[in-house]
Amino acid sequence: MKFASTRNQNTEVSFEHAVFQGLAPDGGLYHPVEHADLSELFQAFDAATPFTEIASRITSALFPGEIPPADAQRIAESAFPFSPGLIDIEDSISLLELYHGPSCAFKDFGASYLATVMEYFLKGKSRRAVILTATSGDTGSAVAQAFYGREQIDVVILYPSGRVSPSQEKQLTTLGGNIHALEIEGSFDDCQRMVKEAFTDPVLQKELPLTSANSINLGRLIPQSFYYVYAYARMRERLEGKLYFTVPSGNFGNLTAGAFAWRWGLPVDRFIAATNLNDVVPEYLQTGVFKPRASLHTYANAMDVGNPSNFERLQALFRDGHGEMDRMVRGLAVDDGEILSTMKRFHDDKEIFLCPHSATGILASERFLKEQGTEPGHVISLGTAHPAKFSEVSRKACGEEPPMPSRLAESLKKEKKADVLGNTLEELSGYLRSKLV
Ligand SMILES: *Cc1c(COP(=O)(O)O)cnc(C)c1O
Repeated sequence: MKFASTRNQNTEVSFEHAVFQGLAPDGGLYHPVEHADLSELFQAFDAATPFTEIASRITSALFPGEIPPADAQRIAESAFPFSPGLIDIEDSISLLELYHGPSCAFKDFGASYLATVMEYFLKGKSRRAVILTATSGDTGSAVAQAFYGREQIDVVILYPSGRVSPSQEKQLTTLGGNIHALEIEGSFDDCQRMVKEAFTDPVLQKELPLTSANSINLGRLIPQSFYYVYAYARMRERLEGKLYFTVPSGNFGNLTAGAFAWRWGLPVDRFIAATNLNDVVPEYLQTGVFKPRASLHTYANAMDVGNPSNFERLQALFRDGHGEMDRMVRGLAVDDGEILSTMKRFHDDKEIFLCPHSATGILASERFLKEQGTEPGHVISLGTAHPAKFSEVSRKACGEEPPMPSRLAESLKKEKKADVLGNTLEELSGYLRSKLV
């Protein structure tokens, strides 16, 4: 499979090139030129197929010229010492638990695969990579954990001061070594803009081998398609009627990855894009007008995105524009009060703790099924973070905090190390030049 910019289909690049380039030189996002047909492969998986086998078979099917099967298997086994869980939480709703990795959020899948693939491509070469990434919390913690100690790679993480949860901040600021944390005086959108500006600055590009680990990087997006296939393989025998996936969304990388899997032949009937009050995509689906705006602060803070970076990819995926996207994606927005009451309801009725993002998804799933009336169908709703990552919100919603996994508790004990920076490209360039050139 080859890739081209969403803004210019004429220059094709390899997977390796797209991974190290991050953003295309014209400011667009790399996107498959042609989609592979993997439907036969998908049907060959069943409920007993391990996640690593699905990851390795899809990798070698997508990149036969770049990653031979034996290497794909090694990459999958090294990237994924953890796998998704799938539990039934209502009659027609399952929760796909994507938070059993090191940073307790789904982003571990993308970050770990990206780190492994980058190290694979760099091995034996004299090149190095400097990864620049903006985070609203979970990307930074996943990327920090995934890249810590990797050879030939430095990581610079920009996060908005005071806007990430204490445990997220600890996970991304306490490792040190090749992981550099920058506390930015501004919003997540500022951090994202600074990173985009750095990537399109020709002088900086010459000085440093910059690349991104945001969901704009294909190396993070591709592996996120694997768990949609895995969930389907686990459910297939039991499925009656239609199959839906609900994706709690901010930058829409996760949903884009699901839509890739669908394009490659996964039989999905519809995606539900669940957002918090930052609802520019649900609004677009309803009105046909895309109106990015400043992000609002909500309890589901990893989805506080006012200008979703992967929207451009969604538009490239749904080629006839709004019509096809609307047929394949239903957008539903949930407010802060509804997030808390959903968390409380599941805690009180079923003793299930949900993080605010996963709760957003579950409530959207329930609403969607209601809209479908008696039409039989099953929703797989993505559980995007471990509830203990957002224990303050749990306390508020449920009156108690979820048990904390030991890997989270450990990072809370360590000391924060971050440099504070203003929100301009000049300040970021100055930092990069002084530390990494
Ligand atoms: C990043 C994140 C999201 C949003 O994912 P996108 O790919 O940006 O849409 C949702 N929930 C959690 C917990 C996250 O960390």
